Amino acid sequence: MKVLVLNCGSSSLKYQLFDMTDESVLAKGLVERIGIEGSMIKHTRTGMDAVSTTTEIPNHKVAIRLVIEHLLDPIHGALSSLNELSAVGHRVVHGGEKFAQSVVIDKEVLDVIEECVPLAPLHNPANLMGIRAVLEVLPEILQVAVFDTAFHQTMPAKAFTYGLPYHYYEENRLRRYGFHGTSHFYVANRAAEILGRPVEELKIVTCHMGNGSSITAVDRGRSVDTSLGFSTVPGILMGTRAGDLDPVMILHLMEQEGITPKAMSHILHKESGVLGISGISSDLRDIEEAAATGNERAALALDMLCYGVRKYIGAYAAAMGGIDAVVFTAGIGENSVLVRQMVSEGLEFLGAKLDLSKNNIRGKEAIISTEDSRVRILVVPTNEELVIARDTKALAEGR
Ligand code: ADP
Repeated sequence: MKVLVLNCGSSSLKYQLFDMTDESVLAKGLVERIGIEGSMIKHTRTGMDAVSTTTEIPNHKVAIRLVIEHLLDPIHGALSSLNELSAVGHRVVHGGEKFAQSVVIDKEVLDVIEECVPLAPLHNPANLMGIRAVLEVLPEILQVAVFDTAFHQTMPAKAFTYGLPYHYYEENRLRRYGFHGTSHFYVANRAAEILGRPVEELKIVTCHMGNGSSITAVDRGRSVDTSLGFSTVPGILMGTRAGDLDPVMILHLMEQEGITPKAMSHILHKESGVLGISGISSDLRDIEEAAATGNERAALALDMLCYGVRKYIGAYAAAMGGIDAVVFTAGIGENSVLVRQMVSEGLEFLGAKLDLSKNNIRGKEAIISTEDSRVRILVVPTNEELVIARDTKALAEGR
C-alpha cells in the first residue's frame, strides 16, 4: 500500500510518499512560495539527486497537480499510475475537543476542521486548502486527518482548565489544547521500544524542541499535561515565541504603549523568545556560537531555555508521581549537545544522570544516560510523517 503524506502551510506544502509494506519513503519534496512570485518545487526520489523547478504555482490545487506529476515522472517519480496510491494523510493542526484520534475525512470532518479555524487561524485554513485541493484533483482518493492536538485530548480537566471564569471554557473554548501531539506520541512510543519496555509501564517526559517547542508528560502512553496551551506561545522559551508570561504584563504594555492586539500578537509570536532576548537570532546555532564568544544576552537566552525545560521536567515528574525517562527530539533536542547537557545538569536528584560522552551525538537514536542512571535519558529523532502514514494506512484498511 502506498500512502502520500501532506503537510500544507499557507504558502508551502511538504510531502512524502510511503510504501507501507516496509514503511520506506519512496519520494519526498517541498513546494514553496505558493501564490507568491518565485514559487518552486523541490522533489527527491529516494536514492537520487533532488530536482528543483521554478514555475508559477498560484494555489494549492496547482501545487498538488505538480506533486502528482513529479510522483508519476518516469525517472524521478515513484508511482507508475495513480491507481497505486491508496490514500492521502494530512497533518491538521487543530481538531479542538472533537478529535482524540485520526479520522477519515468526510463532509462532517471538514466542517469541524473549519469550526476550529478560530482556534488555529494561521494553520487550519492552510490544512483545509490542502484537503480541498486533493478533493478536486483526486476526487476518489481516501483522505485522512491526523491532528496535532489529538494526542493531548487525554489530559485531565485539572491540567487543561485555565483559572478564568468557567463560562469562558464553556462558551469560548478557552482551555489548554497542546500541540506537537504526533511527535510526542511517536517519540514516547519509540523510546519505550528502545528501552524494551511497554509504554503502558512508563512515565516519560518528552521534550520536543525546535523553532516551536513543547514538553509533555506521557503517563503510561497517555498525554497528561503539556506546556503549549490554548495557543502556541506558552511553555518554554522558543525561537521567536515568548513562552510562559504573566498575562497582566501584556495588558499593562498594551495600555502604556498603545499597542493593538494584532501588533501584540506579532510581538508574542515573532519578536520574542530566543530572538527577543538575544537580539541576535532565533536560530539556536547562532546563539550557541555567540554565547561561546562572550555575548551575555545570548548566554541568558540559552540559560533561560534550559532552565525552563528543567523546571518542566521536574514539574511533570511530580505531576506523574515519578519519571522513568526523558526524551529529547526535534531540531534542538536531536542536535544540541550543549542544550541536553545544560538541561540535564541538576536533574541528578531525580535519578537522571547524563553520560557526557554518549551525549556527544547528533540526529540519531541513542540512550545518553549513564549505566547507573535510574531515569533513562534518550535522543529520538521525531517522525511525524510516519505516524500520519501509519494512521492513514490503518484507517484505509479498516474501510
Ligand atoms: P521546526 O519547529 O521549524 O520544525 P526544527 O525542529 O527544524 O524546527 O528545529 C529548528 C531548531 O533546531 C533551530 O533553532 C536550529 O538552530 C536548531 N538546530 C538544528 N541543528 C542544530 C545543531 N546542530 N545545534 C544546535 N541547534 C540546532
